Amino acid sequence: MKKIPDINILDEKNNLLHKKSVDATFPISEAERKLCHNMIKYLELSQDEKVAEEYDLRAGMGLAFAQVGILKRIFVIANEKEDKSFEEYIIINPQIISMSEEMIFVGEGEGCLSVNREVEGIVPRHARITVSYFDFEGNKQTIRVREDLAVAFQHEIDHLDGILFTDRIDKKNPYKNANKMREI
Ligand code: ZN
Repeated sequence: MKKIPDINILDEKNNLLHKKSVDATFPISEAERKLCHNMIKYLELSQDEKVAEEYDLRAGMGLAFAQVGILKRIFVIANEKEDKSFEEYIIINPQIISMSEEMIFVGEGEGCLSVNREVEGIVPRHARITVSYFDFEGNKQTIRVREDLAVAFQHEIDHLDGILFTDRIDKKNPYKNANKMREI
């Protein structure tokens, strides 16, 4: 049996998920590093169908610190590749420095480990973004991401600003402008 990291993910009803996080300060503590690794481990296990079923986990590819109740600008992503291995990202104090004009949306809808209900509608996202961020050692890095990964980055950066994907869906017209964007 695999051991699932003990992480308490807050539900959307929790007020902390609607607050803006503050920049993390360096050095990043041992406890914060450990939490990042546990969050990644959790995400990877959640994407394993057998484990997910056994432990009743929903699959997720990203988690922000705000989702575990810590209002610091840090998030992690575990992106499963074709060969079943994972690309892991630990992103500290990100800033979007450029974005494509082209917009996309996830056809099956976005999901969030903090939103435990079905949500109808599309979330407009940039198809490609370039993000600057810091690594654990405090070195500035730049990454350009596209497609699903770009959606995941924008979803997680939103969490740092207290925004949930549900906030980006037009309440009156959940499929507004779908014809102006590319579905992925
Ligand atoms: Zn989320």
